[in-house]
Amino acid sequence: MPDVFADLVGQDEAVAELRRAAGAAAAVLAAGAADRAPALVAVGLPGEAASKAGDAGPGVLDPSTGMTHAWIFTGPPGSGRSVAARAFAAALQCTYGTGCGECPGCHTTMGGTNADVRLVVPEGLSIGVGEMRALVLRAASTPSGGRWQVVVIEDADRLTEAAGNALLKAIEEPPPRTVFLLCAPSTHPDDISVTIRSRCRVVPLRQPPATAVAEVLVRRDGIAPDVAQWAASAAQGHVGRARRLARDPEARKRREAVLAVPRRLTGVGAAFDAASALIEAAEAEAEASVAEADTAERAALETALGAGGTGRGAAGAIRGAAGQLKELERRQKSRATRAQRDALDRALVDLAGFYRDALTMALRAPVDAVHTDTAALAAAGAQKWDAEGSLRRLEAVLACRAAIEANVKPRIAVEAMMLALWKD
Ligand SMILES: [Zn+2]
Repeated sequence: MPDVFADLVGQDEAVAELRRAAGAAAAVLAAGAADRAPALVAVGLPGEAASKAGDAGPGVLDPSTGMTHAWIFTGPPGSGRSVAARAFAAALQCTYGTGCGECPGCHTTMGGTNADVRLVVPEGLSIGVGEMRALVLRAASTPSGGRWQVVVIEDADRLTEAAGNALLKAIEEPPPRTVFLLCAPSTHPDDISVTIRSRCRVVPLRQPPATAVAEVLVRRDGIAPDVAQWAASAAQGHVGRARRLARDPEARKRREAVLAVPRRLTGVGAAFDAASALIEAAEAEAEASVAEADTAERAALETALGAGGTGRGAAGAIRGAAGQLKELERRQKSRATRAQRDALDRALVDLAGFYRDALTMALRAPVDAVHTDTAALAAAGAQKWDAEGSLRRLEAVLACRAAIEANVKPRIAVEAMMLALWKD
């Protein structure tokens, strides 16, 4: 396995900072071992840790050094927030260096089996307080591998207020060997509370350049260079999306259908039809993506409950079973809603790319087209709408995304957008 940071595309600065931190964290462990003190002491950069050890109380990582207890990884979707958090978790568990990729610590963390690394991946629209309290409690225990307890929270912007408060308490008084890694789109108060933000070090990730994305698709996934280049550009810096476009014919078909929208908008009726088609395609895509997990979960739960029989306590067990099934259905519904919104958002990002191409062409800006395969269509649009009309259309797509994010019903937001795209 290569270095644990190898998949973090185009983020050299962030990787350098995380390596420094992992080095400082290793020095803390080394200093602790030298002092025979189990608790954490103050930390310096590698090499100077021993001299600084003891400056701060146990459990306090000196924030002026490379390492601290709580981190937030921010960046646009697909920039690699969760990839960065997982790689950093591996670097903290690395036995030989700062994420060598070879040792058991690196291997188990990257493989998702390290007992001291907990990963929270929300499936629904929010992370609840119950889940967070249980997590915080477990994170306070002594790391079994003798290094760090690491908690990775993907999509920390989906924490409920109560869950955020439970997390904040843990971050304010961190157990000596516990590290929290949060991932969120930004540090805007809508994404992460100001108080949590103030306790964390922020690692901003940028949208990786298309050439860097293409390079990783070729190297890691064995994708042909020309396909990789096209997919990287079409995915607008989203690494996972680029890989899907390069590999999955269904994903390419869905993208083509979305990019056919602009030329289909010939009247009011066509605009409403296009809105319906977009919504239904997102629903179908989401349904396909969650169907397998739904069925498996339900079967597992029914098997577990089916052992009830007719003995003593069976009636109580059945009442309990109904509750558990209801809870499962609630979770599955929430996950399906999220999947639908994600699918629709991907479609809107593709569409925004098209109008961005039209805009840059109208302005004769010397930049590459996002969608090389619809460049001719975008050029025709640029002629017809000019820069002003192209910009208005691009803004209509972005406004639709914002409206859905703000909980406007997707169909209403998409219909409004289609009408705006159609109008002269
Ligand atoms: Zn290692």
